[in-house]
Amino acid sequence: MSQSLFAEFQPIAAIATTPAAAQTLQSICQATGAILWVPESLNYLENVQFYRGSLKSHIAAIWEDCRAFIFGLATGAVVRLIAPLLGDKYQDPAVIVIDETGNFVISLCSGHQGKADELTRALAIYLGGTPILTGASAGLGLAGVDMLGVPFGWVRGNGDWKGVSAAVARGEAVEVIQEVGSILWQNHLPKQHSFQLSPFPTPHSPLAARILISARVGHFLPESDLPTVQWYPRVLWVGIGCERGTSRELIERAIRETCRDYHLSEFAIAGIATIDLKADEIGIIELCGNGNLPLRTFSREILRSIKVPTPSEIVAAEVGTPSVAEAAAICASLTPLISHSQSSTKTDIPSATNFPTTSTKTDNPSATNFPPKSSTKTDNPSAAILVPKQIFKSENEPGAVTIAIAQSEIEYTGRTGKLFLVGIGPGQLEQMTQSAKMAISRADAVIGYSLYIDLIAAIFRPGQIIESLPITQERQRAIRAIELAEWGLSVAVVSSGDCGIYGMAGLVLEELKLRQWDGKIPEVEVFPGITALQSAASRVGAPLMHDFCAISLSDLLTPWEVIEKRVEAAAQADFVTAFYNPRSRNRTKQIAIAQQIFLKYRYPNTPVAIIRSAYREDEEITLTTLDKLLEIPIDMLTTVLIGNQSTTLYEDWMITPRGYLGFGE
Ligand code: SAH
Repeated sequence: MSQSLFAEFQPIAAIATTPAAAQTLQSICQATGAILWVPESLNYLENVQFYRGSLKSHIAAIWEDCRAFIFGLATGAVVRLIAPLLGDKYQDPAVIVIDETGNFVISLCSGHQGKADELTRALAIYLGGTPILTGASAGLGLAGVDMLGVPFGWVRGNGDWKGVSAAVARGEAVEVIQEVGSILWQNHLPKQHSFQLSPFPTPHSPLAARILISARVGHFLPESDLPTVQWYPRVLWVGIGCERGTSRELIERAIRETCRDYHLSEFAIAGIATIDLKADEIGIIELCGNGNLPLRTFSREILRSIKVPTPSEIVAAEVGTPSVAEAAAICASLTPLISHSQSSTKTDIPSATNFPTTSTKTDNPSATNFPPKSSTKTDNPSAAILVPKQIFKSENEPGAVTIAIAQSEIEYTGRTGKLFLVGIGPGQLEQMTQSAKMAISRADAVIGYSLYIDLIAAIFRPGQIIESLPITQERQRAIRAIELAEWGLSVAVVSSGDCGIYGMAGLVLEELKLRQWDGKIPEVEVFPGITALQSAASRVGAPLMHDFCAISLSDLLTPWEVIEKRVEAAAQADFVTAFYNPRSRNRTKQIAIAQQIFLKYRYPNTPVAIIRSAYREDEEITLTTLDKLLEIPIDMLTTVLIGNQSTTLYEDWMITPRGYLGFGE
């Protein structure tokens, strides 16, 4: 099933000791890819693994290897089983308990860090049960303070996380000083929140706690004993030039000392940049491997084209560019968008023309509302340099290294993005597939037309980025979704009905193709939904019982001659026909033309159903005939179903016979 939705939790262990619990968990295992463990006494079960000996020792044996546990046992039993194994919340797996009937899904441990809360919500959706979340922030409609930066790959620093979370939970004033990184998390806070958002410390306001979002270590703060925590967005690109054979230790020391001297945190390092000649330099490769840092390399031609603060003629004579460290750091800081999973990428620097250039207004010049519409740094790339080149040598060992640090406007997330193309059905949540609901609940960001966003608001979770755009901006929606996914977020793009029928799926895939997508990153998954012709048909009986077709009467993206040709063909071939987009305020004549064409081939009394807003609160259903079709109000929320020559009306029902020649009727 939709196992990609649960990739980050793998491996998942599910545990049941009774047949009823095993049955409930079996379907969950299918959906999530979890392994179901049962005692040998249940040896008649299939697709399960059997544990021998005590459950306690079995859990202990697999504890370290699993990222999530789903127990179909009594909560008390689970608490006793896992108590000796629990370490701290930054390491422990997600632990979830489900009652035998699947009515309740309880997030027991590691609700935030281990994402047990997220998994709980998704499983409750799947089972149609109630998620039980007892963390304080869940009730406030907020993501935990310790989860804010997770979608953007921020690194959690030291600090009094408990103290700050408690202040947030009590609704006390918490100052957030954000110097760098995405401010998307701010746009979707609940109305009643107690954050005081500011780019600078505000000395005189009464505060209970403080959150810092910065690449700098917190020395710039006023003295205070407020509980404080720090997040580090990964915005620093370390440019390196070095002599052949320079050791990893020397490079590491150079970076450490440089960061210390400039009050920068090593946690905020996005990655390493250098010239392509150094792509095989052992010290650099080891450094990247150890720190799990991406390595970006650039050709001398590209490096040469960058204006840097400290060019060197000696370097120019040696390697053909007057700067390696500074130029590479700048180049990497300008190309932070795609989070490739491999650690080393060879990148071309974007030219000033294909990099976004208009300017965004935020209070804070460095924090970004990704994707940035601005780049002052493209106009003046060397403005990105925070640390000009520093040279390090060691007395005891050979080699020398040059370090420079540039700051990018967009943080490196280190994550591989996903695009979920989701059909939400006609309107009611009940009409949506469980997979579609789970995809929406799992996504970091949800993008769609405002009406559909409203229809599914009940399944959003706190901390999700929700973006609604006007109906006309479909292509912009597709591009926005792709940009967020290329950056590393998982993004659900929602369409009404089915996303692959006059929906967003095609637009997103077309746009990906234009961008020379490799078919894999970002990962794409399509979640089907009940399309309008099905939901409309279901409200009037069985009009689609035989061959049918769908035609959109909108000539915005299709020439009218093409549409007219298809209408003619459908009428002639006696297809039951569903008209999508039949009429809008400015587009009124198409449905009348279609009616005239149909009247050439079908009787005036051919049954027609006009269904507006199927399964929504303002649903309207009218049964009529082909000749009277225009007497009924028709708009963009309406689907028109025209019967074939055998379709009949019976009481309030529209019925198309199952077959010709009397078979199967
Ligand atoms: N992807 C959608 C179609 C989008 S085109 C789907 O698969 O259903 C928009 C058109 O769909 C509308 O103009 C209308 O003709 C039809 N439509 C969408 N939702 C509808 C609903 N709830 N009731 C009736 N028609 C609907």
